[in-house]
Amino acid sequence: MSIVDFTKTPVAGLYGSNCFSNAVMRERLPKNIYEEILAVQAGEKELSLGVAEVVAAAMRDWALAKGASHYTHWFHPLTGLTAEKHDSFIAPTADGRVLMEFSGKELIKGEPDASSFPSGGLRATFEARGYTAWDVTSPAFLKQDQTGTTLCIPTAFISYYGQALDKKVPLLKSIEALSKQAVRVLRALGNETSKRVYSTVGPEQEYFLVDKVWYDKRPDLMLTGRTVFGSMPAKGQEMEDHYFGAIKERVAIFMRELNTELWKVGIAAKTQHNEVAPNQFEIAPVFTAASAAVDANQIVMETIKSAARRHGMEGLLHEKPFAGVNGSGKHNNWSIATDDGINLFEPGENPQSNARFLLFAAAVIEALDRYALLLRASAATAANDHRLGANEAPPAIISIFFGGPLTEIFENIAEGKRGAAADTGSTITLGVTSLPHLPKDVSDRNRTSPFAFTGNKFEFRMIGSSQSIATPNTYLNTAVAQVLSEFADTLEGAADKNGAIQAIIKKSYAEHRRVVFNGNGYSREWVQEAERRGLPNVRNAADALSVLARSDTIALFEAHKVFSRDEMESRYHIYLEKYAKQINIEAGVTIDMARRYIFPAVSAYAAGLARDAGSLAAVNAASAPQEKRAKRIAELAAELYDGAGALENALLEAQNVEEPFARAKAYFEKVIPAMDGVRVRGDALEKLAPKNIWPFPGYEELLFKL
Ligand code: ADP
Ligand code: MG
Repeated sequence: MSIVDFTKTPVAGLYGSNCFSNAVMRERLPKNIYEEILAVQAGEKELSLGVAEVVAAAMRDWALAKGASHYTHWFHPLTGLTAEKHDSFIAPTADGRVLMEFSGKELIKGEPDASSFPSGGLRATFEARGYTAWDVTSPAFLKQDQTGTTLCIPTAFISYYGQALDKKVPLLKSIEALSKQAVRVLRALGNETSKRVYSTVGPEQEYFLVDKVWYDKRPDLMLTGRTVFGSMPAKGQEMEDHYFGAIKERVAIFMRELNTELWKVGIAAKTQHNEVAPNQFEIAPVFTAASAAVDANQIVMETIKSAARRHGMEGLLHEKPFAGVNGSGKHNNWSIATDDGINLFEPGENPQSNARFLLFAAAVIEALDRYALLLRASAATAANDHRLGANEAPPAIISIFFGGPLTEIFENIAEGKRGAAADTGSTITLGVTSLPHLPKDVSDRNRTSPFAFTGNKFEFRMIGSSQSIATPNTYLNTAVAQVLSEFADTLEGAADKNGAIQAIIKKSYAEHRRVVFNGNGYSREWVQEAERRGLPNVRNAADALSVLARSDTIALFEAHKVFSRDEMESRYHIYLEKYAKQINIEAGVTIDMARRYIFPAVSAYAAGLARDAGSLAAVNAASAPQEKRAKRIAELAAELYDGAGALENALLEAQNVEEPFARAKAYFEKVIPAMDGVRVRGDALEKLAPKNIWPFPGYEELLFKL
């Protein structure tokens, strides 16, 4: 792939050239069909087969003109990045030629053999068929590489019996639920014009790059995405020089290609920079509607990997590739906007919009407090435990940051105090009641909060870098939809709307203010303070996931038609299983690396040292250091060997546990500590052994050489 010359191919011309966007549809579809599609996107209509036929033909012609030979229904499986099954467009004719065909049926209904995707028992094994249907809210795009061009159709994946087998279907349902309840509240507030609301999402994606030369020599990175051994070199991230430093040329060239590839498929990659840890980077697109943003983030992750490989590097999306330096997260910037362009978290210019803002913000506070465990569960993976559960930020405690002035406004309302907050300007009135005027810049920056208000959106920072953001947004949308539905119930029945608004905010905030925290979320004091406030702090993913099996959780999702009981239960089991599997692989790799690489290398070295010591002893007493060193290394090697044995036993024990939750807990309680025990010995040996006998490249190569 060559570097695009923007003087010859201007970005504006390149942007979206591989995306079957609304602009392309407007151009290529008859007017009435295009309008039908807009209505389907707005949730006003179902996609009919007739319309699908016309769209499919246009999509096919567009894709063929750009060199596509295949198409795929592209979807979010419950594990892994994205799944695709490729079909070619060819349709042989009786006389031995082919036509390039693609029908409406093929657009709205693919039929991948679903039997090998995890479904948590939702399908009977004999019924392997699942259906994928085009998600009209996310545009089709072309994937181009050395192997050719494929038309990718973002799809929702459902079983023969209509259950969701992917992460997209529930997300779409949660967007629907949020829209329904938010519109009820808006109507009650006197808004007659907004027809729908959308959750808008802009995810910031962190990742590491390592040179492929080193990567290929690390079985742990290749098989698990993280290093299960590795001692810190003399320098880590303490100088913070990487964050502020200029982007290295090799990385800059890669980023240019990454941006170009994303722009082509219509993803507005906007910001890129070095991150805190060495060789860690971030990319953020301009936000879009949640459904498209979720797909775009999957494409961003895939493109990081594919573009890195073309530049002799490997993109690491794992939450914690290296111990001792920061891990990678994904900041999910989230807001709610109406179809006529109102951002509901934009503090207003006038009393009406201020009241609306405070009401919707109060709903988020309440949702975060009531559904803290659910949001925690949305970020619960084995990999993310290295961040949330450990000494790294953010902590596993859900709290919300609003900044001083806004918090004071809520406090005043809750305390029944009228008038302005200390330094926020004059009071303005809303009907008979008064709400204080909101200061212009209401939020100062807080980087340590897991859920921060940042001016006109919230930033959910617990999510791991490798996760799909579909599920966190699904839970968030549903939790807020529930609170809004209760607000709407009260408002709709109220004679005095202004009084009701004030009363709702007052009651809600008074009951849920404990979740608001503006201080340093990384401090030890906060952990204690949160405990005093009764906020949950769930440090491991297995425990965090258990909320999914609770009847109140299932009732919440059923009430908003986001998940059925069966769907929720199956997901719970799939996530637990994924957790156990991930640790199972890591433990296996740890044993392998200890026994087959480290132990032989250091034992041979120690034996050599002992021999040297013996020979030197004949000359003089100078053999002492060799002897000591040989002894220390031999001791550690023995401990490493025993540790690998203990880990193997722990692993067998965990594998034999039947019940999924108990099994996950066994991995957490038995396997992880045993794995840590082996690592400590391995890392100590790495510090003692000469560089040239160590069987793997170390952190200095992985983190500092690019
Ligand atoms: P940071 O300061 O944390 O780096 P930025 O202000 O640059 O964050 O924005 C980060 C992300 O937030 C971007 O992807 C941006 O598009 C997104 N964003 C901005 N406004 C909204 C919104 N209303 N809804 C969702 N995401 C938004
Ligand atoms: Mg951010």
